[in-house]
Amino acid sequence: IEHLVWLRNDLRCLDNPALYFASLEAGKAEQGIAVILTPTPIQWEKHNESDAKTGLRAGLIKSLANTLATLGIPLHIIDADTFDQLPEAITTFCLNHNIKHLWFNRDLPIHEQQRDLAVCEQLQQHQIHTHVQATDIIVPQDVLSQQGTPFKVFTPFFNKWISLLAQQDNTPMPMPEPQAEPLPEPSLNLEWERPFRDDLWPADHDVAKQKLWQFCHHKERHYQAARDYPIEPATSTLSPYLALGALGPRQCLEAVLYTCNQEGRRWQESIWLKELAWRDFYRQLMTHFPFLCMNRPFKPETDALVWRENEEEFQAWCEGRTGFPIVDAAMRQLNQTGWMHNRLRMVTASFFTKLMFADWRKGEAYFMSKLIDGEFAANNGGWQWSASTGCDAAPYFRVFNPTRQSQTYDESGDFIRRFVPELAKLDAKSIHDPKPEQRKHCHYPKPIIDYKSARLAAIAAFDAIKDR
Ligand code: FAD
Repeated sequence: IEHLVWLRNDLRCLDNPALYFASLEAGKAEQGIAVILTPTPIQWEKHNESDAKTGLRAGLIKSLANTLATLGIPLHIIDADTFDQLPEAITTFCLNHNIKHLWFNRDLPIHEQQRDLAVCEQLQQHQIHTHVQATDIIVPQDVLSQQGTPFKVFTPFFNKWISLLAQQDNTPMPMPEPQAEPLPEPSLNLEWERPFRDDLWPADHDVAKQKLWQFCHHKERHYQAARDYPIEPATSTLSPYLALGALGPRQCLEAVLYTCNQEGRRWQESIWLKELAWRDFYRQLMTHFPFLCMNRPFKPETDALVWRENEEEFQAWCEGRTGFPIVDAAMRQLNQTGWMHNRLRMVTASFFTKLMFADWRKGEAYFMSKLIDGEFAANNGGWQWSASTGCDAAPYFRVFNPTRQSQTYDESGDFIRRFVPELAKLDAKSIHDPKPEQRKHCHYPKPIIDYKSARLAAIAAFDAIKDR
């Protein structure tokens, strides 16, 4: 075997350009390909990735290994701890196995790019084939303004993105052809495996694909109306699969285009498709502005803000005992499942950055350490949006009122009841902000923040740096 495919954050056989083209190329010479995976558990810890995400990754690797076996493609796992061990480990593998070509799909985050560069430098005698079209719908370098500069505001980005989408071929790559008789199902021993909610996110590529098509068939047309209500199962919950590359974004695109066509709707107006564009938007920001990966705010003037440090408040927020029922329900959803509804990500991040006036980087890190779908670009983008330090962010004077958000988006209080069972008996009117005696009776804490004064203090702090 001369052709080796290195899979990383693209754990799938369908719509995987590097895998597909390697197999075509090898097939021409009547050769086969092999696949390597290089788990780096210490590196993931350094990146603050959650146990839930690591657990799902392990499960998806097993699912992938089974598919590769049915295609007759051998899989090798090269164990390492961190990225810096990979150049040597991969070079040794290539020399021992007489590999001549290495294929992979480009990864965008900065450490991943450095890792790939270091591997390529070591493999000077080998042919390296990099594919750019695996992790985004449109690659960041293609969506530029007329002046050739990256977009910093979503709407013009989106308009350009939609026009490019109509021009490019968006068909996902098929699976590679079987290259030999099926291999025996591998039994993998992944020592770094972790428990996660596999009842909610089965580690199975077929299930992920089914979830996608079922969502598009049954729910996509109701998405705009229902997506903001956390009690409704109205969003796709595909983010963990997208984050690990078990589903490619073009597979999502294919499903939504198909559904819109079938139902006679204009795909350009699909709000769900727009969310996939947000995903691309934040990924292109991370690519064009690498300082975002270095803990810097997009707006440098916001560096002058002096965030409050209050360990007790921080712990209360993390553990879901702030005394604001919707915030607590959301944080408990995150802690218990590894996922949080988008509306609530905005509510809890706004609570953290504006009302607690705590440093967004600390909240971003906590989310990352718990999210099963943790993705640097989307998480950093979401946090900087909420903190008003980001590109195209929420205006600083707009501070979410958690109680009002709760009354609007969880009117019946059923979402709160699900995750804050001590309040389950309260009626729909009082559950959003229980009276002192109700809190006492339910053993539920007092609010850790006074909304009105905290809001004014946050606005004043931003006002003070306005002219910098
Ligand atoms: P759907 O509503 O079905 O959307 C489909 C897909 O589009 C999602 O799976 C996701 O890949 C993408 N998407 C949707 N909304 C956004 C968005 N605002 N930004 C970027 N991509 C989006 N998303 C992550 O995937 N990983 C994160 O680490 C992450 N952290 C966030 C932190 C904060 C503070 C905020 C406000 C948002 C964050 N998001 C993150 C975005 C969004 O909340 C999730 O993508 C979404 O809730 C996932 O649920 P879903 O798959 O049902 O989404």
